[in-house]
Amino acid sequence: LTRLYGPLTALSNVRVDVMSALVSFDRVFEVLDLEPGITEKTGAAEIPPGSGRIEFRDVRFRYPSADQVSLATLEDVSTLDARENEEVLTGLDFTVEPGQMVALVGPSGAGKSTLSMLVSRVYDVTGGSVLIGGVDVRDVTLDSLRDTVGVVTQDSHLFHETIAENLRYARPGATEEQMWEALTGARIAALVRALPDGLDTVVGERGYRFSGGEKQRLAIARLLLKQPSIVILDEATAHLDSESEAAVQRALTEALQGRTALVIAHRLSTIREADQILVLDRGRIVERGTHTELIGAGGLYADLYRTQFADAIPAPMRDEEIEIV
Ligand code: ADP
Ligand code: MG
Repeated sequence: LTRLYGPLTALSNVRVDVMSALVSFDRVFEVLDLEPGITEKTGAAEIPPGSGRIEFRDVRFRYPSADQVSLATLEDVSTLDARENEEVLTGLDFTVEPGQMVALVGPSGAGKSTLSMLVSRVYDVTGGSVLIGGVDVRDVTLDSLRDTVGVVTQDSHLFHETIAENLRYARPGATEEQMWEALTGARIAALVRALPDGLDTVVGERGYRFSGGEKQRLAIARLLLKQPSIVILDEATAHLDSESEAAVQRALTEALQGRTALVIAHRLSTIREADQILVLDRGRIVERGTHTELIGAGGLYADLYRTQFADAIPAPMRDEEIEIV
């Protein structure tokens, strides 16, 4: 499996794909600041440790409308239905086997980030079900869900607290030794060690300001502390300098080893290594297969490949590849 994750390269140079929801996405796992309505069932079960299988069964989703919220407070319930949002995901069926890497690709707005948020219950499905290790995510404790699923986005959130406190959101009982080990794995230990207050350095607006790449490596350190069996990675919005990019890449390679990964991928190098590529368009899976299979199929993936991904390939190789198409 090491082979699969080795070439998770370059995270910069991707199309900007702004998604404000990423902040709340990240927070769910750090402080359980859940969307209203995401609650733990009484008698909820634990996810069996090490469960790595993700299944989507006829999953449908529509966002709750902001109008609905304000109208509901006015108790004007009669107009709610007319103002319902469009379905953003319509009937998704797929399985990610333990240890596999699945890449989600598709045009901006296709529903990739939304899909990934249903695994960690940032939102709940509005139809069908999402299962981890064979259990519906709505039937498990929020703690075990948080322990099982780790999330890294390009927009990792740090709290205005010390580095140690930020790390302990991932693993409350973590010792200093474990924190240094995680920071080392995430290729950020040297920088933290060089700070006058080390792990006790306060970060954020009025504290030490990490760069984008450094913040991302701290997020990876949190992942290494948490040791989740499932990792969700949104490659979007990376603006890392090439030095950061290389460091983040090495850290990610380590963090993904032996785990199930659902990667929203913009980089051809990532996509080519995926066990399965799901191509999303307007909330539907329109194609699935490996890179070679999908290029051969000559559909949306082949189009995206030419327009979006081809610039990531070295020029001599690019000519060859286009021949195949
Ligand atoms: P992708 O990640 O593939 O670019 P998204 O999952 O971010 O796509 O978005 C899918 C669709 O859902 C888009 O039409 C987008 O406008 C809509 N959407 C995303 N977030 C929200 C939200 N918080 N409220 C309502 N609609 C949203
Ligand atoms: Mg997105």
